[in-house]
Amino acid sequence: MSTADVAETTAPILHLRGPILLGPEEELAEAWVAGGVIHHEKPELPAGTEVREIDGIVVPGLADLHCHLGIADGGGGTTLAEAREQALVDRDTGVLLVRDAGSIIDNSPLQQQGDLPRLIRCGRHLARTRRYLIGYADEVEPEELPAAVTREAGRGDGWVKLVGDWIDRAAGDLSPCWEAEDFVAAADAAHAAGARITTHTFDEETLPLVLDAGFDCLEHATGLTGETIPRVAEAGIPVVTTLVNVDEFETYAAQGEGKFPAYAAHMRRLRASRYERTRDAHDAGVQLLVGTDSGGVLGHGIIHDELDELAAAGLTGTEILEAATWAPRRLLGVPGLEDGAPADLLVVPADPRIDHRALRERSHIVLGGRQVA
Ligand SMILES: [Zn+2]
Repeated sequence: MSTADVAETTAPILHLRGPILLGPEEELAEAWVAGGVIHHEKPELPAGTEVREIDGIVVPGLADLHCHLGIADGGGGTTLAEAREQALVDRDTGVLLVRDAGSIIDNSPLQQQGDLPRLIRCGRHLARTRRYLIGYADEVEPEELPAAVTREAGRGDGWVKLVGDWIDRAAGDLSPCWEAEDFVAAADAAHAAGARITTHTFDEETLPLVLDAGFDCLEHATGLTGETIPRVAEAGIPVVTTLVNVDEFETYAAQGEGKFPAYAAHMRRLRASRYERTRDAHDAGVQLLVGTDSGGVLGHGIIHDELDELAAAGLTGTEILEAATWAPRRLLGVPGLEDGAPADLLVVPADPRIDHRALRERSHIVLGGRQVA
C-alpha cells in the first residue's frame, strides 16, 4: 500500500477524554478526531459509527526546530530512503513537526509522505569557504553570499540557515565567519525573498552582529552574555537550545586541544555555562525552542534527552511543553490543538506540566488523524 493509499483509508473516529492541553493556561475537557482534524464539539456521526475512546492527557505533537534529515552518521548525504528512516525514528518519539536546519540532500520529497512529521526546510547550509564541517554546506565568499541566500530562500520553505561562526584555524579560536556588512546583506537578501534567516552561532562576538543585521532566529547561541540576552529578549528572537549538542563540546575541545588550545578552552567555557546561560535567557524573556541537532554527529530520536537538558537548566514541565509544542508551532505558523486543526497529537498517561518525563510514556501518537504509533 502506498502512502497515498494509507492517507485515503478511513481512520476511526477518536474520542479523546482529556484533558486537552491547548496552551500553558488553557485546557479542554474532551475533544474528537474525525476526518483528520480535531473537533472541540462532538461531530455529527451516522448511527452505528464506531468511536474509539482514548483516556489520557493530550498535547500537540512535539516540534524539533533543529534537525537534519538527509545527513548520514559521521557526515555525507543519505539516500532519500535513509532520510525517511530518520524521520520515522523521530516521529516514533513523538516529534510530529520538524524544521530541517540544513540538509545535504534535497529532502523535499518527504513532504509528500503523509506518515512522516510535517517538514519545514531551510534548504542547504550556507557557510564561509572552509569554515564548517567538510561537505555539509554550500561554501561561499562574501561577494557571493547575497545571491546564495536568495537561491536557498527559493529552495527552502521560508527559512535560510547561515553558519555565522566556526573555528578560525589561523587564529586558533572561534570567530565570526563574516563581517558586519555581510550579515546585513544576508538578512536583507532573505527578507527580500520573503524568507526568515537563522544562524548557527557558538561565539560571543557573532551575536551583536546578527542582532544588528536583523536575523530572525538563533541556533545554539552558546555565546549569549549579560549584554546580548536583553537584546535578544527585546527583539523577540527565539533561541533553539540544542543542549545535547552543547554537552558534546567537551569532545570537540579534546579533539582540538593539541593544535588549538585557546579554542579548546573556549569550548569548555561555553559548555560549562550552558545551564546557567539557558536559565538566564529564559528568565530574561527569551523564547527557547527545542532542537536536537540530530543528523550527522548526533543520532535521531533524542528529543527526550533534549527535554531532560532543559529540565536540568531549571525549566518547569509547563515551560518545557511551551518550548517543545506551542511556541514552535506559533513561530512556524502551524496550529496546535485548535478546533479544526490537523490532528497531530500525543496522548500521555500523566501530566507533563508537572513532570515533562510523562512525554516519554506516550500511549498514542496521532498524525493527521491517524494513529501511527
Ligand atoms: Zn545543526
